[in-house]
Parts: sequence; C-alpha cells; structure tokens
Amino acid sequence: MSIGERLAEVQARIGQAARASGRDPATVRLVAVSKTKPLEAIREAYAAGQRAFGENYAQELAAKAPALADLADLEWHFVGHLQVNKAKLVARHAHVVHTVDSAALARELGRRVSVAGRAAPLPVLVEVNVGGEPQKAGATPGEIAEVMTAVQAQPALALRGLMSVPPAGDLAAARRVFETVATLRNLHGGQRVLPELSMGMTADLEVAIACGATIVRVGTAIFGPRSEI
Ligand SMILES: *Cc1c(COP(=O)(O)O)cnc(C)c1O
Repeated sequence: MSIGERLAEVQARIGQAARASGRDPATVRLVAVSKTKPLEAIREAYAAGQRAFGENYAQELAAKAPALADLADLEWHFVGHLQVNKAKLVARHAHVVHTVDSAALARELGRRVSVAGRAAPLPVLVEVNVGGEPQKAGATPGEIAEVMTAVQAQPALALRGLMSVPPAGDLAAARRVFETVATLRNLHGGQRVLPELSMGMTADLEVAIACGATIVRVGTAIFGPRSEI
C-alpha cells in the first residue's frame, strides 16, 4: 500500500470513530508522526494532502524543517520529550509543541520564541503523566496548574490543551488514561481554556476519539513500522 492509501485508511478510521461517538470527523485533526522516516515519505504524504507532521527529536526536526521549507503550509508538531536545552531548536522550527511538562521549560520556550520574533504566539499543550510514574515524561496531575500558569505568563506562548501518551499494548489502560485526561481538562478550566486534547496513536486512536481527542498522532499506520533509534 502507498502512503496515500494508508493515509486514506487512517482518515477513514478517524471518521468512523468520530461518527460512532456522535462527533463531527472535522473536529479531529491528524498529525502524521514522521520521526525516523525520510524526507521522501513526508513529501509523499504531503502530496496526498497531509499538512501536519509530528517529530520527536529536536535535532531531527531541525534537519528536516529547512529541507522541506519549499512546502510552505507544512505544519511541524513537536511531540517528543523536550529537554530545556533543546528549546531553542524547537522554538525555531515547530508550529505546535505538545510536550511542555515543566514551568522551567515553559519559561525557556517562551523566551526563545520571543527572541526568534514570531508573528503569533506558539501554540503549546501540557503533557500529562496521568499515572505519575517517575520514569515517564509529563507533568503529574498535581503539577498541571503550575505548568499552565507558567505557560500563560509567557506572551510568546498560547496554551491550547493537554497531551498524553498511555502505556503501550493495553487498550483498557489507555482508555483509563484518556478518560483521566478529559477529567483533568474539566478540572483546569474546561474546553474554553484547554480546547485541544492530543491523545491516540496507531493502536488506540478509536478509544482516544471516543474519550474526546481533538488531535491524534499517528505514525506506524501511515509510514509503516520504525526501527527505533
Ligand atoms: C511515535 C509516537 C507517536 C506515533 O505512534 P504510532 O504508534 O507509530 O502511531 C505518537 N505520539 C508520540 C508522542 C510518539 O512518540
């Protein structure tokens, strides 16, 4: 199957899942996660109509973005764990950052975006570690308010929502995570303050959409399996 055919299949899954929950499919955006995949694969997806692409590694984003600068309306979403010392690279190239998980990162990203002199604030989401597992990225539920306040204090950042990555390979556990993220959104200002919920990947996008996802991040179903680096 071509990348275009795989994209169409993913869009069909999204449409079906949205309608099954009584939602308009247009309320769910697809970010095609292209980490470790070559430029030609991204061009192929772009030619098939895909515009939003996700990258996990700051250096990889910084290499790919200039190489694809001719695709003027391509939108880069940074979805990987972001270290404070990589904020500069991401501030330069990303159009959306899904993984702000500390007040220190919010401050540094805000500073770097304002130095870069963007026309509009950079949309960001707060990554939540619902289980509070110490080895996982993301703000714990108890830290969300502090991170949100730090984002809102940065004029160069625009708070847009919450993001989460559930444990792999367990749909029931994923559903509990997605439901908790939706509850946390309601606790922290609701849709008005946090309109976007970035959750759902190849294996669990239907579950995420049933729980209210507005952005799904899909790699494998579009680009095929990765040899992880
Ligand atoms: C790799 C990755 C994805 C895509 O995962 P697939 O299972 O390949 O669809 C989505 N979100 C994040 C944060 C990722 O790291």
